[in-house]
Amino acid sequence: MRYTYSFIEDIKNIMRTRRKKSFFVNEDLYVVHWSLKNYIILLHKYYTKKLPAPHIDANYTCYYVSCGTWGAYHTTKKCVYFCPFDMEHYSLSAKELLLHEITHTQHEHYVKNFSHTEKEDYINEKMAKNTLSTKK
Ligand SMILES: [Zn+2]
Repeated sequence: MRYTYSFIEDIKNIMRTRRKKSFFVNEDLYVVHWSLKNYIILLHKYYTKKLPAPHIDANYTCYYVSCGTWGAYHTTKKCVYFCPFDMEHYSLSAKELLLHEITHTQHEHYVKNFSHTEKEDYINEKMAKNTLSTKK
């Protein structure tokens, strides 16, 4: 996994987060709202290499983003998004979160018509069997 920051990806993510706002509310998902403070913290931590970057042996790019849900994925590209704020409210580790998002990209074709809850259950079950999650 390659970790990086991209201004373009961050802007696209801000727009995506705004567009999906009602979906996030309906599904009761935790959303980190965009703020100048978080944006500055993200960039500062990125350039001082203080953001979590767990080793994952997969040919993916992880974009750090300043708002949104903790994790997100791209349905067709090998990339995931990571908003590393308020992680104390998240029940899993950064590594588990990113493996979850990678697993989404691998099974999207199968679950695309599932409801959000069905999709999450299926992905969590697949993730447990994902060989990546057994590697250190
Ligand atoms: Zn998920």
